[in-house]
Amino acid sequence: MTTFAILLTLVLLIFAAGFTGFAIVSLSEGHRRAARLAGALAALSLLILIAALMVPPTVQNVLALVLGAGLLALLLYLAWPARLAIPPSPPPTLRIDERTTMFARACLAPGSPEYSAYYAAHPEHHALDDLFRSKPGLLAPGALFYDERLASSPEGSFYLTESLRHAVNGPVADTATQHSPQAMTAWIKKLAAYHGAVQTGICELQANHIYSHIGRGSGTYGAPINLDHRYAIAISVEMDHQMLNCAPRMPTVMESARQYARSAQIAVILAAAIRALSYPARAHIDGNYRVIAPLVAKQAGLGEIGRMGLLMTPGLGPRVRLAVVTTDLPLSIDPPTWDPSIIDFCTHCTKCAAVCPSQAIPTDDRQHHPDGTLRWKINPERCYTYWTAIGTDCGRCMAVCPYAHADNAFHNLIRFGVANSANFRRAAIWMDDLFYGEKPPPHQPSPWLR
Ligand code: SF4
Ligand code: SF4
Repeated sequence: MTTFAILLTLVLLIFAAGFTGFAIVSLSEGHRRAARLAGALAALSLLILIAALMVPPTVQNVLALVLGAGLLALLLYLAWPARLAIPPSPPPTLRIDERTTMFARACLAPGSPEYSAYYAAHPEHHALDDLFRSKPGLLAPGALFYDERLASSPEGSFYLTESLRHAVNGPVADTATQHSPQAMTAWIKKLAAYHGAVQTGICELQANHIYSHIGRGSGTYGAPINLDHRYAIAISVEMDHQMLNCAPRMPTVMESARQYARSAQIAVILAAAIRALSYPARAHIDGNYRVIAPLVAKQAGLGEIGRMGLLMTPGLGPRVRLAVVTTDLPLSIDPPTWDPSIIDFCTHCTKCAAVCPSQAIPTDDRQHHPDGTLRWKINPERCYTYWTAIGTDCGRCMAVCPYAHADNAFHNLIRFGVANSANFRRAAIWMDDLFYGEKPPPHQPSPWLR
């Protein structure tokens, strides 16, 4: 056997082993199309190897040279540095009134003074909101995917989150002990991780992070919000990808409700722990926010806001739920980050927009908005109206996002390439469509959920 033939054998064996491994991982993740394709590529690599071993040594040498040159060219292409002229979005210049958000509008009881006052001030929302009110509603019998047994799980999780809404704040201990900001920062991050947070970031709280008026949760509806805490701690928790892949059916709302409860629990514990150290702290959790969690999380370095309008984290994409704690406990802030790779990926990938059943996600480039930001903006009325028709929080966009794949060595290798090479990002979009489909179908729920 010539040296070239040995190299050829090694490369083809590595290909076959890699594709076999990927097929097994894909099968375990429920991605049958990816598993079939990877299995076929593994078999093809072995067939080429067998054929190459049967031809004369001179042909083997030519084959090895062709394969080597092809691989080298591919590596050079993928690693080629690209100059990215992608500007970050400026921060919003205006504060958002929480009353204008879909969730606050959904809480308005027809006939109530708040209802009348809101639609007198925002007549442009009235017909749009009447449309979602004409649908069965979230977790409501009659909705397309409603299932009484499965719906009991998110009902239970939301019950816990709702109970925690009354525990977001409390008395502050008066036995002050001085700790260095560095020591406290390390402690808070460890504590958050201990309770289940996958990421924790800290930033200075800015005016544009804070809603201007209360729209739901504790406090008086419509009251101006004055929150003068100096720091904000953003945490994220992971959503299970198997449950999310069943989107838009019931398992997805089971999982989002579970993770809203988990993130709320962590934030409430952190805030109470800080108050026990004699500093004021308030948790901001589902249904009782005073801050806009994705904006805080972005400022704290957890990710960027992507095409679907959600925080895209480098490790799990949008497959996270967020909560925030604001406090005066002296902390070290995380340096602001700007990751153009996520915005570059979203600019060229429109997978979430392609699968969105309500066509709520834009397919064009980021646009400038009156609040000074440069971003994608989804149509919240279309999205929410779809939720109320099907009875779940849909999540199709999150489920198909190439960033949302499972956290394992195969996907993390792709994530490394995506973060570091513009050409790799283009290739990754193409590969994701090839292995998973341009519009991946929802997965079948596990047997216990059927
Ligand atoms: S699916 Fe594609 S475009 Fe949509 S958020 Fe994910 S990466 Fe961005
Ligand atoms: S949750 Fe569903 S309806 Fe809403 S934007 Fe995502 S895919 Fe579209």
